[in-house]
Amino acid sequence: MNSEQILALTDTCVKCGLCLPHCPTYRKAVQEADSPRGRIAIVQGLLNEQIPNTYSLNRRLSRCLECHACEAVCPSKVPVTHIIDATRAILTARQPRYKRSLRYFLLNLAVRPAILLPLVRYYQHSWLRLLIQRSGILKFLQLDNADNLLPEYPIREIRGGNFPALNAIQGSQYALRASAHPIAIFPGCIGRSIDANVINAAIKILTCFGYQVSVPNQPCCCGALHRHDGFAARGDLELANTVSLFKNYPHVLTLASACLAELRTSPDLSKTVVDANRFIADIAWPDDLVIDTTPQTIWVHTPCTQRHPVKDPQAAIDLLTHLPGVTPKPLPKNITCCGAAGTYMLKHQDISLSLLADKIQIIKDVKATIVVTTNTGCALRLKAGLRASNLEVRVCHPLEIVAELIKVTIL
Ligand code: SF4
Ligand code: SF4
Repeated sequence: MNSEQILALTDTCVKCGLCLPHCPTYRKAVQEADSPRGRIAIVQGLLNEQIPNTYSLNRRLSRCLECHACEAVCPSKVPVTHIIDATRAILTARQPRYKRSLRYFLLNLAVRPAILLPLVRYYQHSWLRLLIQRSGILKFLQLDNADNLLPEYPIREIRGGNFPALNAIQGSQYALRASAHPIAIFPGCIGRSIDANVINAAIKILTCFGYQVSVPNQPCCCGALHRHDGFAARGDLELANTVSLFKNYPHVLTLASACLAELRTSPDLSKTVVDANRFIADIAWPDDLVIDTTPQTIWVHTPCTQRHPVKDPQAAIDLLTHLPGVTPKPLPKNITCCGAAGTYMLKHQDISLSLLADKIQIIKDVKATIVVTTNTGCALRLKAGLRASNLEVRVCHPLEIVAELIKVTIL
């Protein structure tokens, strides 16, 4: 999108301000420049070259969480996040080459973790981590937040078609069913490693339900990280690559709401891609499924992407309602963002940590022992916040709960 097209979209904003109380960054900063209306005014000023392109104005635009809360209430249907993404792409192209190249390199590393993961694994389990943590260098480089996000378990990648979930079902009452309906799981770029347990859970459930599950081995990404960080063209390439891998499947299940929101923008996938929680909640459950009925309350954190672009905040609740012993409850004030928002949690620690603190307080107030969420970034953020607060609360994906409660008997 060029400047004229972006400016035409900004003209649809009538400056009514109805979105302001719904914007998490405005509620925290209480400054017009941190509101949707203020950001639109900044875009207009920058693209019309009425105001200089300063670091501080760039940062104001970058402080948008892309949570879509403003779009949900805007009477003029202003596509605020679309405007901000497109403007970030223009501003990124104007950055000095060294800065742009470094950011591009880091993003590419994140979505192709083959090189990064062995290094992260080594860092996680060596004396180096302790040394670096104690040296204070992480705080100095503002990377302490990134270090806290690393999961406590060793990161591994799901590749090669040898899934522990399938091995566990072999020889059980469910083993012979998995042939009838082909179905694909979109594992995501980072999700393939960080969400290995969730992928296995989905494979177990779907196999027990009689589906033949495929998880392509090739790297695949929805393009969201690049698109929201000013590299829209690379985001388009990532999405096109994913379309070529998945376009022939009748159903493509996603495990993270942010990926689903992005994949749905492709006309080639919009009809076949579906949230795994919603898909499993809506299909008929086999009568002979053996489910553990131990009573437990499970609190649901609904990601902004699940609520707004995906427009299905009930998916996890509807899924968990199938489990006889489980009482699913939405967390109070569930409409508020947890502050994760992709790379946002690394770049804007002030607002991100403040939003997280509110969420952790809510989890503490309801005395939750298990919280589920349907997005990878939110799960990482909540786990890090709970660890830092010394709260023993399990954070996982709803599919992990379902998979654990389905009992498998080896015949
Ligand atoms: S997308 Fe979210 S953070 Fe960004 S302007 Fe809209 S409400 Fe505010
Ligand atoms: S973005 Fe929409 S709700 Fe917000 S000020 Fe503009 S027209 Fe009003």
